[in-house]
Amino acid sequence: MKTMKKLFVGALLVAGGSAASAAEQDAWVKDAALKVQDEVVQLRRQFHQYPELGNQEFATAKRVADYLRQHGIEVRTGVARTGVVGILKGGKPGPVMALRADMDALPVAENTGLPFASTVTADYQGKPSPVMHACGHDTHTAMLLGAARLLAEHRQDIAGTVVFVFQPAEEGAADLDNFTQGAEVGARKMIAEGVLDNPKVQVMFGLHVVAGIPSGELRYRPGALMNSADGLRIDLQGTQAHGSMPWKGHDPVVAGAQIINGLQTLVSRRADLSQGMGVVSIGSLHAGIAPNVIPDSLNMLGTIRTSDDGIRKTLLDDLPGMVEHLASANGVQAKVQLSEYAPVLMNAPKLTKAMIPALQRASDGKAALLPQSFAASEDFAHYANRVPSLFVLLGATTPGTDMAKAPINHSPFFTVDESTFSTGVRAHVEFVLNYPALASKAG
Ligand SMILES: [Zn+2]
Ligand SMILES: [Zn+2]
Repeated sequence: MKTMKKLFVGALLVAGGSAASAAEQDAWVKDAALKVQDEVVQLRRQFHQYPELGNQEFATAKRVADYLRQHGIEVRTGVARTGVVGILKGGKPGPVMALRADMDALPVAENTGLPFASTVTADYQGKPSPVMHACGHDTHTAMLLGAARLLAEHRQDIAGTVVFVFQPAEEGAADLDNFTQGAEVGARKMIAEGVLDNPKVQVMFGLHVVAGIPSGELRYRPGALMNSADGLRIDLQGTQAHGSMPWKGHDPVVAGAQIINGLQTLVSRRADLSQGMGVVSIGSLHAGIAPNVIPDSLNMLGTIRTSDDGIRKTLLDDLPGMVEHLASANGVQAKVQLSEYAPVLMNAPKLTKAMIPALQRASDGKAALLPQSFAASEDFAHYANRVPSLFVLLGATTPGTDMAKAPINHSPFFTVDESTFSTGVRAHVEFVLNYPALASKAG
């Protein structure tokens, strides 16, 4: 038995020679992440207690900028309104690597009962609304600050430059019509204002906390990680009539019913479902006020989600024609508007596979493949469309609790187990320490 054990260890060392040296090179990361854990928790609780809606992250941005400067990181503020960009030059030459966290909260009334729960209200679309970090962006910001500190303290070990991207309004802006002005906020606005250009970002990493995955665990997926999302607005104009005499008008309600059903056949009859999935959902429908009056108009709002850009293109291309024809078959006018939110979030397959050992080290071996793309969407997809990127999911739910019952992101009961922060911090740091060797091999 003894001999066998020795042989086994020897074989491991030989086979895993380069992995062992990579592991040695970042042996400090685990201890360092534990050392900043309390600070990350404090930062996060502060962000959580005083959440700010999209495009209003003024206090959060100031705290972020102050913290980065405190640690000797060059800072740009006011990017895409409230965004903050930090730049850290490492001690060795190498690629430009961006790490991204989002900072915005949601118009949700917190009901977690946490001692640092939010009681904040703020204007959302012109109306006062409760505000809560119900998607965990408070934790993303805090974890990236913790990682920034560690990387700044070890800048001599870094080959290349790190760009810290603290992005506003991932969930949309509180003060703009996100349907018509969505391109002017969040990731798209950061990109338009040059966040990927100066210095020229070569690779990007980000993560999202997710309820229902045990804390301390990571999920990765080469290719599609999160689905596309696009908004849909349909306005039907008919002619009002007495409910007893529909022949005297043009009924937008019956036309609307046919359109809602017709939209489902875009998915089932038009989309190439061998490539992925698609969904068209109408979530808002308004027409008329009285039971005996056929109204003259109907308005509906919906969302289109897909896991494949080909399916997305089919749905977006074919939808207006179908709506217009169904409307005109009923003698009703249709106005169709589509609004892009995010394409499919595509992880660069080679990069993702090459980073698996680093993700395993960041999570003490608890990184696993996500078998299907995640149904939700992320505007990180816009960065990933421009530079090779890796976005991973980080477990937020206390191990040993019922994962199926954990309140999901955006719920008033959503919580994040703080013990997962050190894994998140390590994932950012490991990405920066491990990517340069891969980049030089590929080059
Ligand atoms: Zn969210
Ligand atoms: Zn989110």
